[in-house]
Formats: sequence, structure tokens, C-alpha cells
Amino acid sequence: MCNYCFGIDIGGTSVKMGFFNAEGTLLEHWEIPTRIEENGKYILPDIAEAVLTKMKEKSIVKENIIGVGIGTPGPVDESGVVHKAVNLGWGVINLKEELQKLVGVTVKAGNDANVAALGEMWQGGGQGFENVVLATIGTGLGGGIIINGKILTGSIGAAGEIGHIHMVDEEEEECGCGNHGCLEQYTSATGIVRLAKRKLASSDKASTLRSVTVDSKVVFDAVKAGDVLAIEVAEEFGEYLGKGLAAIAGVCNPEVFVIGGGVSKAGPILIDFIQKYYIKYVFHGSRDAKFKMATLGNKAGIYGAAKLVLN
Ligand code: ZN
Repeated sequence: MCNYCFGIDIGGTSVKMGFFNAEGTLLEHWEIPTRIEENGKYILPDIAEAVLTKMKEKSIVKENIIGVGIGTPGPVDESGVVHKAVNLGWGVINLKEELQKLVGVTVKAGNDANVAALGEMWQGGGQGFENVVLATIGTGLGGGIIINGKILTGSIGAAGEIGHIHMVDEEEEECGCGNHGCLEQYTSATGIVRLAKRKLASSDKASTLRSVTVDSKVVFDAVKAGDVLAIEVAEEFGEYLGKGLAAIAGVCNPEVFVIGGGVSKAGPILIDFIQKYYIKYVFHGSRDAKFKMATLGNKAGIYGAAKLVLN
């Protein structure tokens, strides 16, 4: 009889579900809506029902399920307790125990970005390495740190929040976290737009960016077309992120940085801008760290979640 596991990734609008065999092959994946109403009280029962329905469909009994791994927004400690997931309406909840009660098999839980980093280490851009830092450049700047093949969790699960490393003392705009001058204010998709708008306002240079609605894709398309002002924006982006990653390397000395998220669709050119400044600022012992693109896209979370239980 074969064995299986589930890898699940809770997002603000949908829950990604993955059904894997014991070798880690993704056999099926699908999504269910995330019902955040009434403080998210339906989320776990909906997930449990999806798991139990799939088991029934496949004629699989609990004894054939190695476990259910799950990633969620918010800090998650080693015991599987979530310490507030604001987007889901959750306060402090014991995700591991509550879901275990509902599905009747072992559950392991982690923070979504950290779990995605584990996924990229296992079957993505960080394959073959055990010391990996994932930087996910999307609406925000997410991250996850893997040391010796394990997620760096920290005391309540707030480790790997690389987007909120303080970079700029003078920043007047507020970050989503409430602080000012966080790394993600300059290196996320919205951060790149912020840099571009400031550059356009402070410079007289001609640029294709002046005649379009600026988003991060438009900026990197202009970079590829040789637009001088867009290149200056990319240099600034690369300097912030390269400097931030150099600081992280000073703490955890990774073998590889994996760059993912929506902005990474711009391709390896991103790495050129980041690595140049990384090398400029990093301690010599971490200078040889590799830079690679993420390869699992938005499935990194379900892969990493499955890996939590296949360890
Ligand atoms: Zn912040």
C-alpha cells in the first residue's frame, strides 16, 4: 500500500491544496476559497473537509497518510501555534492541534514564507543546498531562512522577516508593519514604484517611464530597453536589497539566495543588480554565496508544507 501526504498553503483569498506521494511527487493540486468571515472560523473546517473528501475519492485511509503540512500567514512557533494572522482574522490559535482534531492525522505547521523557502530548498531554486535564504519580491518583501535543512523559526516564529529590516532613518512614509524605512519599502513591487516615482520627481532625464503608469514590470522592461533613468532605479533597488542580504549573510552565512515572487518574472537581470551590491557590502566569508531564481512559483508553499511532514 502506498503512502501519501498533503501540503497546504493558506492565502488571504484562497487555500492551495497539494496531494503528494511519499517520494514528494505532487500528484494533484487544487484551491478552495479562504473564508475569512467571523474571524476565520471556517478556514480549518473547510480545509479538513477538502482533505477528507480527497482521501475518500482516492479510497485512502488515515493509516496511509504520513501527515498534513500547512503554511499560514503570521508567526508560527515550533509547536504549531499561530501568533496572530491579521489577514485571516485569527488571534492566537493552536493550528496544529485544531487541524489534527479535524483530520485525525499528524499535522505540522509553519509560517507561509518560511515554508515556501523550505519548498524552494527541497525541489526548487535551492535544490542541492541546505543553507538557503529565500527572498520573495511581491507586493511586500517576504523571506525564509533554512539552516542545515531546517526552517529558522525563532522564538515565536517571526524569524526570516527580511522585509522589515530597518534601512533608512529619514523615511517619512509608513511601512505596512507600522515602522518607517523598512527594506520592503524599497525592494518590493510597490517599493520599486516608490523609488521610480521619487527618481522621476527629482530628475529631469528623459525616460519612457514618464509616459506610462509605472509598475515594477514597466520599470524592468525599461531597464532591458536601456532606459537610463529606469536603470538608475534598478541600481538603487539592487543596492538596498544587496545591502540587506549582505546583513542577513553576516548572521547566517547561506550557500545560496533564491529570488522569487511576482517581480522575479523580470528574470536573471534582477540578480545582476542585487549581487553586484551584495558583493560590495558582504563580509568576505559569505562573498561566494550563489544567487538563483526560484522555480516553484506559487506552488513553493505546498511543496514546503509537504516537506514539513516528509522530513
Ligand atoms: Zn516594515
